[in-house]
Amino acid sequence: MREQEYNLKNLTKCPLCKAKYDNSQTFVLEEGSSRTIFHLTCSKCQSAVLAFITEGKQGVVSLGMATDLSVQEAREMFKKNPVNKEDVLEVYKYLNNK
Ligand SMILES: [Zn+2]
Repeated sequence: MREQEYNLKNLTKCPLCKAKYDNSQTFVLEEGSSRTIFHLTCSKCQSAVLAFITEGKQGVVSLGMATDLSVQEAREMFKKNPVNKEDVLEVYKYLNNK
C-alpha cells in the first residue's frame, strides 16, 4: 500500500478537466514489484483514465491514457492479457506522438 500512495501523488488530477481525483474512484488493476496499473474515474467529468506506473532505472515513470473501458472491462482485459513491458512502451510512444 505504501507504493500505491506514493504513486498516486503523480496522478492526483484529471488530465481532462483538472479536477482532483477521489480516492474511492481509483482502482488498482495490477500491482507488481515494479509496475502498477490503475483505473481512475473522474468524479466531475466521468472520464476514465488508465494509469501505468513503472519503476525502472530512470526512476518512476507515470503514464496516463484516456480509456472508454469501465473498471470491470479493464479488469477483464488485464486478466486475459497481462500487460508487458512492450505494451507500456506502446502507450508511451502513442502519447509522445500526439
Ligand atoms: Zn475530469
